[in-house]
Amino acid sequence: MSYVRRVLVVGGGVGGLTAAATFARRGVEVVLIERRPAFDLPGVGLGQPANALRVYDTLGVLDEILATGFSYDRMHLFDLGRRLIVEHKFLLGDDRVPAFCALSRLQLHEILLGAAERAGVQVRLGVTVSEIHDAMDRVDVQFSTGQCDSFDLLAGFDGIRSTTRLHLVGTAFAPRPSGYGAWRVQAPRPDFVRGMEFLQGIGSKTGAMPLSNGVMYLFHIRPEAAGADFAGQDLARLFKERLAQYSSYVAEIAASLNSDSDIVYSPIEPLMLPWPWFRGRVVIGGDAAHTFAPHLTQGAAMAAEDAFVLAREVLDDEVPVEARLMRYSMKRYPRCAFVYTFSGQWLHDEQSVRSAQDLETARAELTLNASARIGVSDRILNGPI
Ligand SMILES: Cc1cc2nc3c(=O)[nH]c(=O)nc-3n(C[C@H](O)[C@H](O)[C@H](O)COP(=O)(O)OP(=O)(O)OC[C@H]3O[C@@H](n4cnc5c(N)ncnc54)[C@H](O)[C@@H]3O)c2cc1C
Repeated sequence: MSYVRRVLVVGGGVGGLTAAATFARRGVEVVLIERRPAFDLPGVGLGQPANALRVYDTLGVLDEILATGFSYDRMHLFDLGRRLIVEHKFLLGDDRVPAFCALSRLQLHEILLGAAERAGVQVRLGVTVSEIHDAMDRVDVQFSTGQCDSFDLLAGFDGIRSTTRLHLVGTAFAPRPSGYGAWRVQAPRPDFVRGMEFLQGIGSKTGAMPLSNGVMYLFHIRPEAAGADFAGQDLARLFKERLAQYSSYVAEIAASLNSDSDIVYSPIEPLMLPWPWFRGRVVIGGDAAHTFAPHLTQGAAMAAEDAFVLAREVLDDEVPVEARLMRYSMKRYPRCAFVYTFSGQWLHDEQSVRSAQDLETARAELTLNASARIGVSDRILNGPI
C-alpha cells in the first residue's frame, strides 16, 4: 500500500495555499515553503469565478471572501468611447455562489493563509528547495537553509518560473513571450462600474474590475516588445500615453497617474504543459503547469481547482501513487487546455482590431456572437471538476 501522509507544498500563492489547506484538512501533515520572506504582494486584484469560489467553500472561507470582495454577475463590452456593444450575464454560479467575486490579491492570500494555518499547515517563509532526489516511495529534499527532509509527495505550486517544473521537464517547456503585455493600476470605483468591463480600442483594449465598494482596478492589454522592462519612473508617463484614445473614467484615471501611482506591468507569457504533470513523487499545478492570457480571469481559479483535485485524487484510494497522479493530470489537462485556447483566441481577436473599420467589424461581430460565445465557456467552467 502507498500512503501519502506528509506533503511538501512549494509556493505560497493561491494554488499552494489551497493545496496545503486542502491536504491538511484531510489529515495530512503539510509543510508549505514560500520563497518570499513575507506575504506582502503588490496591489491589484483577482476576479474569482464561481468555480474557484466553490473550491474556497470546501475550505470554509467562502463567506469571508464574499464579505471582503465585490460580487457581480455580468460583464459589459464597450467601445473606446464607452458606448455599449454588448452585455453578458454570466451563466456561472448558483444559489450559494455568485458568478464572480473580485478582491485584492493580498486579501485573498491572507484568507487562504488563515485557512491553511487553522488546518495545521507549517508555513516556512524565505525558504526554497535546493535539491530534489526521487526515491521509490518518497522524495528527499534539501532546503535552501541546508536542512534535509523526506516527504511522500512534493507538490510544486511555484508559479510561472517554477523550478519544480524544471526538475520534471527541464527547459523543454517554458513560458514564451506572446508579444502582449498587461498594465494595471488600482483606482477609485465610479458608481456605474458594477461588474467587469472591457473597452475595445484600436490596437489595444482596456477595462475595469471592481474590487470593493470604493476601489476597482484598471487594466490595459496591448502589444509590447518581448522582454520589455520599463523603468519605475517611466511607468506613469508610458501608461498615460497608452490610454490616450479612451474616454470616460479611463481618461480621468490616466490624467491622475503620477510617480506615486502603484502601476504593475506584466508580460503575457502563455504556457500549457502537456500531461503528465508529475514524475515519481513530484507533481506540479497552477501557473507552474499552465499560464493563460487573463481574459477569462481563470488563472488563479485553475490553480485552486488543480489543488483541490490533486488532494482528492491522491487521497482517494490506495492504487499506486503514480496512478493517482496520472489521474490528476488527465483530469486537469483538458479543462486547463480549454481555458488556454479560449483566452488565447480572445486575446488575438481583440488585438487584431487595428483600424476604425476593424472596430466597426468587431462591433458587429461581438453584438451578434460575444454573449453566446462566453456563455458556452461559462457552461463548461461551471460544470463539475
Ligand atoms: C494581468 C493578469 C491578470 C490576472 N487576473 C486574474 C484574475 O482576475 N483571476 C484569476 O483567477 N487569475 C488571474 N490572473 C492569473 C493569476 O494571477 C495566476 O494564475 C495565479 O496567481 C497563479 O497562482 P499560483 O499559485 O499557481 O502561482 P503564483 O501566484 O505565482 O504563486 C507562486 C508562489 O510560489 C513562490 N515561489 C516561486 N518559486 C519558489 C521556490 N522555488 N520556492 C518557494 N516558493 C517559490 C512565489 O514567490 C509565489 O508566492 C492574472 C494574471 C495576470 C498576469
